[in-house]
Amino acid sequence: MFQAELKQPVSRLQGIGPKTTSVLSSAGIITIDDILKHYPRTYEDRSRITGFAPALKTNEAVLINTPALITGQEFFGRPPKQTLKVMLEDASGIPASLVCFGRNFLADKLIPGRIIILYGSFQNRFNELQSSAFEFELLPPETTFDEAPEAASALPDFGRILPVYPLTAGLSQKMMRKAIAHALDEWAVNIETELPESIRRRYGLMTKPVALRQIHFPDNETDRETAEKTLKFEELFHFQLAAARRSYKRKSARKPGATAAGFSTGNGRLEAELLGKLGFKLTAAQMRVLEEIKADISSESPMSRMLQGDVGSGKTLVAFIAALQTVERGGQTAFMAPTELLARQHADNASKLLTPLGLRIALLTGGVKAEQRRHLLEALSAGEIDLVIGTHALFGENVAFKQLSLIIIDEQHRFGVMQRLALSGKNSTADLLLMTATPIPRTLAMTVFGDLDVSTIDELPPGRTPVETHLAAIGNERKVYDFVRRELSAGRQAYFVYPLISRSDKSSLKDAESMFEALRTRHFSGFTVGLIHSRLDEKTKKDIMDRFRAGDIQIIAATSVVEVGVDVPNATCMIIEHAERFGLSALHQLRGRVGRGEHQSYAFLVYSEDLTETGTARLKIMKQSTDGFYIAEEDLKIRGPGDLSGAAQSGFLPFNIANLNTDFELLKTARTAASDLVKTDAGLLQPENSAMRRLLEICPPFSDDLIGG
Ligand code: ADP
Ligand code: MG
Repeated sequence: MFQAELKQPVSRLQGIGPKTTSVLSSAGIITIDDILKHYPRTYEDRSRITGFAPALKTNEAVLINTPALITGQEFFGRPPKQTLKVMLEDASGIPASLVCFGRNFLADKLIPGRIIILYGSFQNRFNELQSSAFEFELLPPETTFDEAPEAASALPDFGRILPVYPLTAGLSQKMMRKAIAHALDEWAVNIETELPESIRRRYGLMTKPVALRQIHFPDNETDRETAEKTLKFEELFHFQLAAARRSYKRKSARKPGATAAGFSTGNGRLEAELLGKLGFKLTAAQMRVLEEIKADISSESPMSRMLQGDVGSGKTLVAFIAALQTVERGGQTAFMAPTELLARQHADNASKLLTPLGLRIALLTGGVKAEQRRHLLEALSAGEIDLVIGTHALFGENVAFKQLSLIIIDEQHRFGVMQRLALSGKNSTADLLLMTATPIPRTLAMTVFGDLDVSTIDELPPGRTPVETHLAAIGNERKVYDFVRRELSAGRQAYFVYPLISRSDKSSLKDAESMFEALRTRHFSGFTVGLIHSRLDEKTKKDIMDRFRAGDIQIIAATSVVEVGVDVPNATCMIIEHAERFGLSALHQLRGRVGRGEHQSYAFLVYSEDLTETGTARLKIMKQSTDGFYIAEEDLKIRGPGDLSGAAQSGFLPFNIANLNTDFELLKTARTAASDLVKTDAGLLQPENSAMRRLLEICPPFSDDLIGG
């Protein structure tokens, strides 16, 4: 049976009626597959007999699993609120007692002279071992201590390692154990093992049926560990296999018109013309990454490259030059930005720099009106546009290209994996250039981005003076405002950033709307102030930004919408109020909005009193450094080395049992195994056998179902 066949309702299991089905479904357990993947939270080891001795050595509570002889009963407390206490001893005669709060009815069961099997938490109190949290079963009359272990293992809940499941209302451990035992007996026994036999052998892993049985009802700790490793490995391996296959597929794909010698690239005329017109020279780092990109563009297989570079390092220009290469070869370029604001700014820039070179440029965003949009789409599919810049609207279903050859994604971390894949799906042989100012943690680089090459711009254009960063406690804003006023009077401009758009009853935080009023009417009454946040329509945002760029507006009050990409070199002040509310990468991006021109720039991080430890640490790092790579590393340190909350939030790590925080080594092993398989096993590409075919179905090269939403 294939694993896919387990997608049947749990009601097909024996003994699971409509009531249990509905309780299970409210816990998210719908199919047999779901219930088999409902792995234990922990286990109770009822396989080894402990006796009472371990609880004698400490004052802590100790879990005890032992047969015990009942030696007596008594009631304590004042009537009528009396409580039953049962005296017992283990095989070596160590005494203990059970305190039966609310369970006086046990007096009829726990009769002196009988031997029970007992599992409970015991604590040494008042020189006596006591438990009030325990489970027990009576062993058959006449059972001796010697016979007890065997008698216990005949009982469902004793004599073994018992799984403890995560529960929700209406579920009990007994129900879960029973349902899962049915699922294992009736369904899991016949499941096909998807991991190739050779890999299973090499890494000492179990077959799927054995692994499932042992994770739920382990025979011993060693087998449980192997089962856990097997199931984790399977998840990680599938994930890595999908990445390896994507990479293999891309690397073995051929761009149309390619020969073994690659392409005849353009003659570089456009690039030379552009560089001649710029008032500056490319930095050495820009030139280096450009060579890497050009080599990819002229190679016969499609580029998959991540371009990392700190804010202001000049990635856009590099991307434009890559587009020129593509144009010279007769291809079209799509350039995607995460916001309309940024798309528009790139388009303005491109018109200024590239239209004079003869490039046909268009802007396509959600805001483009129907009529104009129709024209644009026609021109695009007729090949009359060389470079189209836009938001994710670029990759809507009705957008067709004549010859899409280069896809550029700016601020790629702002997009979901799905969007990125949708877009590379438009043309799987197009060159793909992702750009980011947020360096990618190593762990993530090995998973989701496992198939990308990386280029890094590690140098800023010359003549930039690092932004001066100041921390100010709330209450001292006045000094900050005075400083900003002097900058404004000297002709400079400023951003004020707030964590909220509007005033909230639930929070005492400052918000952009109220502060816009306060800045305009009180603090900076002689200056023009604009307001920008995500709830304004695009036209209003554009107007404000245009007026800010033109210098008609001196101050922008905003939320973090101004975080990405906005480039106004005359702005020299960035004031972030409640700075402790922003993450390090947001703070860094925001600060990157200033220090983009010839004037010395300043960032003021205004913090409130109730700083947390990590809040303090973040502000310190911001004060210390303006190096985005350093900041990203420190950020990871604060969050813990393996913390991938960013990745988890974006939902592209669909692991059920594997955990990248703790299973990094296993991830690396799975990665090696997957890439070995893709490289060496030709059978994977022309599948001969059923297991291989299954693997292909599970991990098609462009499938995203393994990567999640
Ligand atoms: P990024 O996208 O990497 O944050 P941008 O591409 O927006 O950075 O570039 C920031 C600014 O630096 C732009 O105004 C750009 O024109 C300018 N710039 C780019 N390269 C250079 C260079 N080599 N020398 C001087 N200025 C440059
Ligand atoms: Mg940029």
